[in-house]
Amino acid sequence: MAESIIAPALWCDSHAHLDSAEFQANASEVIARAAAAGVDKILCMGNDPESSRKAFALAQSAPHHLYPAAGLHPHEALKWGRDAESELRELWESDAVRCVGEIGLDYYYDFAPKKQQQEAFAAQLDTARNLKKPVSIHLREAFDDGFAILREVGVPQGGVLHCFQGGPDEAQIALALNLHLSFSGMVTFKNAVALKTAVPLVPADRYLVETDSPYLAPVPYRGKTNEPAYVVQTGAYVAMLRGIPTEQAARETRQNAIDLFKMD
Ligand SMILES: [Zn+2]
Ligand SMILES: [Zn+2]
Repeated sequence: MAESIIAPALWCDSHAHLDSAEFQANASEVIARAAAAGVDKILCMGNDPESSRKAFALAQSAPHHLYPAAGLHPHEALKWGRDAESELRELWESDAVRCVGEIGLDYYYDFAPKKQQQEAFAAQLDTARNLKKPVSIHLREAFDDGFAILREVGVPQGGVLHCFQGGPDEAQIALALNLHLSFSGMVTFKNAVALKTAVPLVPADRYLVETDSPYLAPVPYRGKTNEPAYVVQTGAYVAMLRGIPTEQAARETRQNAIDLFKMD
């Protein structure tokens, strides 16, 4: 006899920093809460070699739930050099590592000289192309330079503009560059007007959702430590903006992440 059990929607958090200090003491509870909320896949970013190794080790502890990425974040671009590259390469060459990330440019905080950021970004894009891996890209107040580098180096395996903060124009450029767009808790913020108008313009097979934990918790958790379980709130808001049922947004964004990052 068939039982009428309505399965909860399953989600993928396509960008989280579970290696960060905020989760040192409670990573296993955070991961368990994510699973309980239906978040059955999480892509764990790396910010530098050490953080990438931590993300890798964490992902090994929860196969098919956590997947590691490895990369040098633009904030850390001063660390770029032969040592950092060879340490990251050890990870990049592992089949377990599904993504080169996070990488990119950040001219808002400007923690490293622009030239150094550009060099690290272009070199890691090049590596991703050679290793046939997708990328997770951070561009903050750096769309022009970022798009110029992306046009030059290319992303043949695709990738995602994570925590997308642009409007319709930047969205169109990113889509034309073979990128997906990932929406974070920022879409729920009242002042994100241009961003909200971009959300419904992205094709159904090109958008993702993420938390960017521990940062950017969505409303109603704004200001608190973000965690992967809260991708559900962001996803529900994205669904509302797209005028589709929440379950559909869950299904589409999860499948898009699985396809892009080959999460088996
Ligand atoms: Zn970022
Ligand atoms: Zn991030």
